[in-house]
Amino acid sequence: MMTQTSEALAPAIDRTAARTFDPLSKVGDEQAFRQEIRDWLAAVLPADWRKQWQQTRESDLRGVMTWWLEERRKVGLATPHWPKAWGGPGISFAYQIMVYEELSRADAPELDIFTISLFHTPATLFEHGTQDQIDRYLGGITQGTDIWCQGFSEPGAGSDLASLRTAAIRDGDDYIVNGQKIWSSSSMHADYCLLLARTDPNGKRKHDGISYFIMDMKSPGITVRPIRQITGESEFAEVFMDDVRIPAKNLIGAEGNGWNIAQSTLSTERGLLIFGSTERLARSFALDRVDAKDSWMRDVGLRREYAGFYAELQAIRLMVRRLLAELEANPEKASPTLPTFIKLNWGPFLQSYSEFLVRAEGLEAQKWQPSIPGTGHSSRLRFNDFLKSYGWTVAGGSNEIMRNIISERILAMPRG
Ligand SMILES: Cc1cc2nc3c(=O)[nH]c(=O)nc-3n(C[C@H](O)[C@H](O)[C@H](O)COP(=O)(O)OP(=O)(O)OC[C@H]3O[C@@H](n4cnc5c(N)ncnc54)[C@H](O)[C@@H]3O)c2cc1C
Repeated sequence: MMTQTSEALAPAIDRTAARTFDPLSKVGDEQAFRQEIRDWLAAVLPADWRKQWQQTRESDLRGVMTWWLEERRKVGLATPHWPKAWGGPGISFAYQIMVYEELSRADAPELDIFTISLFHTPATLFEHGTQDQIDRYLGGITQGTDIWCQGFSEPGAGSDLASLRTAAIRDGDDYIVNGQKIWSSSSMHADYCLLLARTDPNGKRKHDGISYFIMDMKSPGITVRPIRQITGESEFAEVFMDDVRIPAKNLIGAEGNGWNIAQSTLSTERGLLIFGSTERLARSFALDRVDAKDSWMRDVGLRREYAGFYAELQAIRLMVRRLLAELEANPEKASPTLPTFIKLNWGPFLQSYSEFLVRAEGLEAQKWQPSIPGTGHSSRLRFNDFLKSYGWTVAGGSNEIMRNIISERILAMPRG
């Protein structure tokens, strides 16, 4: 797809015509592999991509992100973490880590609106989907034509997800779905939704009777209302379903087994996803020091605070690397609690460090500016990063819930 905005990036594409890049052919030689990625990024990524994307309207977002996915696809790096069985390159975990390190080092854009497509959907389909579902849906992801969203949370069913009330009632070859989802990231761009709905309201436990569906977002009866956030952008939306028909063949796994399947979906949030974010922030963190050398770095109190943040950030990076090492050695045996600790530290770190920068840099840093898609928590627009940091303490489970998990499952404390 070539939108007006992605055409603006075309000169970068032309530059690559002079030389083709093939990092995957260098697997086996770490240095050559890294160098090939660096050369490719230097050739293909416009130096001013942040500025260009900052001017991108929400309606053009899909175009620019699809352009970047396509550039990555051309060199085999659209889905570096996918095994061969999924149609990915099947490179080892160590090489996957190198890809994410190099992308972060070069400040390459994150593929926000493809997060569910690239991580959650294949993990769910490969573990629980039918061969037909795998064949039908995976191609659209690698080709960059399909965007997926995750329809789990509802008003009244976030932390307590098992209380969800969206109902799916069997009617011949279809299920008829009624209900509402909320906070569904990128659902306004999405073609498909990973949907949890209740097929049996009379289960023994509330976790029972939940089923897992693939919902075509173009189905009649779906209304998507973007939610405007404090940063001014809309990354997520409410999704209303009014007598939406989902063919029974779009049920993933057995009816009533949705809760277990959802655990596979959510497990993908550990590992490389968080690794990319922490590495990106580490890069930005180092730049902050350089930028401030003639300003707040001269203040001993602020310098001391910065040193404290440095120690915290290194501790988080080490925890993430330990998790990756455990996942590489044996995903079954990886610590189930380490991701909880990482999340519990990462959210507050983002908040306190972004608050520090707003304070240290003075009035100029308190100015709101249009956000830059694809920059995650490291847009380096101080006020935006500060405002956005709060989302992380809620997304994927709030910090209070994380602390409950630690107290109950690790410290074996009694339930409150
Ligand atoms: C940036 C972002 C992206 C998201 N993307 C998606 C998405 O793509 N798809 C999707 O389905 N959802 C998504 N979510 C939703 C997210 O999963 C929920 O916001 C989260 O699970 C919390 O649920 P809630 O918002 O309903 O808050 P609630 O569960 O209502 O919690 C409100 C407050 O009460 C506290 N609380 C609740 N229960 C307890 C308890 N038992 N003990 C102590 N404190 C408690 C919480 O910690 C919190 O502070 C996203 C959220 C964010 C912020």
